[in-house]
Amino acid sequence: RAKEGGRGIYRFFKREMDESIRERRSLARDLKQGITDGELVVYYQPLARAADGEVCGFEALVRWQHPTRGMIPPLDFIPVAEENGLIAPLGEWVLRQACADAAAWEKPLRIAVNLSPLQLNNPALPTLVHEVLISTGLSPHRLELEITESALFKDYQRALDNLRRLKALGVRIAMDDFGTGFSSLSTLQSFPFDKIKIDKSFVENIHRHDRATVIVRAVLGLGRSLEIPVVAEGVETQEQINFLRSEDCAELQGYAIGRPGPLHTLEAWTRANPAPAQAPDQTQAPAE
Ligand code: C2E
Ligand code: MG
Ligand code: MG
Ligand code: MG
Repeated sequence: RAKEGGRGIYRFFKREMDESIRERRSLARDLKQGITDGELVVYYQPLARAADGEVCGFEALVRWQHPTRGMIPPLDFIPVAEENGLIAPLGEWVLRQACADAAAWEKPLRIAVNLSPLQLNNPALPTLVHEVLISTGLSPHRLELEITESALFKDYQRALDNLRRLKALGVRIAMDDFGTGFSSLSTLQSFPFDKIKIDKSFVENIHRHDRATVIVRAVLGLGRSLEIPVVAEGVETQEQINFLRSEDCAELQGYAIGRPGPLHTLEAWTRANPAPAQAPDQTQAPAE
């Protein structure tokens, strides 16, 4: 009986797995088509200087406007792209689009672009970035590439070599989602990052859990000692803003500063005299 039950469960999981494999395959096919058909969209989220609230840059966050499934968030299709050899064309498209958009802004604000670990392990990456900077006319110091520490796991030497070549171009390198991986500190030791982004899982617990508060404070201290500016992700409340400001956090990013939105929604921020960053109006529909 036990054996039969086991087999039943196996059949059940087998069916579920077959379905999810089929589902992923069809998503991969759609994505391949979608990239060439122009279904990807770059949303932009502002980053504000903590001291005075002035917007100092934007992070490019890709979305997929699927013809029948609607707007798909990146965490639902980036892994599909990575598994199906589509991350290179996808990543190149986002990079080119974000740099071209930023080059046209009136104010020379910074633009941050996320890199997948697979992109960082591609030896052709620095050449691609160089070519995109030249063809879009964006000056290298305005581009910031965000990587997570898992990007250094696959081929450590190659990833480090790529990071050094990118830095030599004048591009800035930020460590994203700091604190969520298994070797955040050793990653910090191995490369001179230009920025540390504290993961939102810590930021959201400021004042809710004593330990999160202590960890955020410690990361800010670490950044100060290493002379690396620290950004807090996922800032949603005035209470968090006050705390982060009082602890000398350099920059803030989160719904309390501004939600990610399509290019046209950020015109006000990129004009020569931007309106100060404001907490979102709760009565207003969010940008996404
Ligand atoms: P990330 O780079 O850590 O980006 C921050 C994520 O937090 C974004 O989610 C953003 O919308 C969300 N967020 C920002 N402020 C708040 C807040 O106050 N509260 C909460 N709860 N969330 C906030 P999104 O856009 O869904 O992106 C998720 C992840 O997908 C990104 O995390 C990044 O790792 C990846 N990603 C996005 N675009 C790209 C891309 O072009 N290439 C690659 N390789 N990865 C990307
Ligand atoms: Mg990021
Ligand atoms: Mg992040
Ligand atoms: Mg994060």
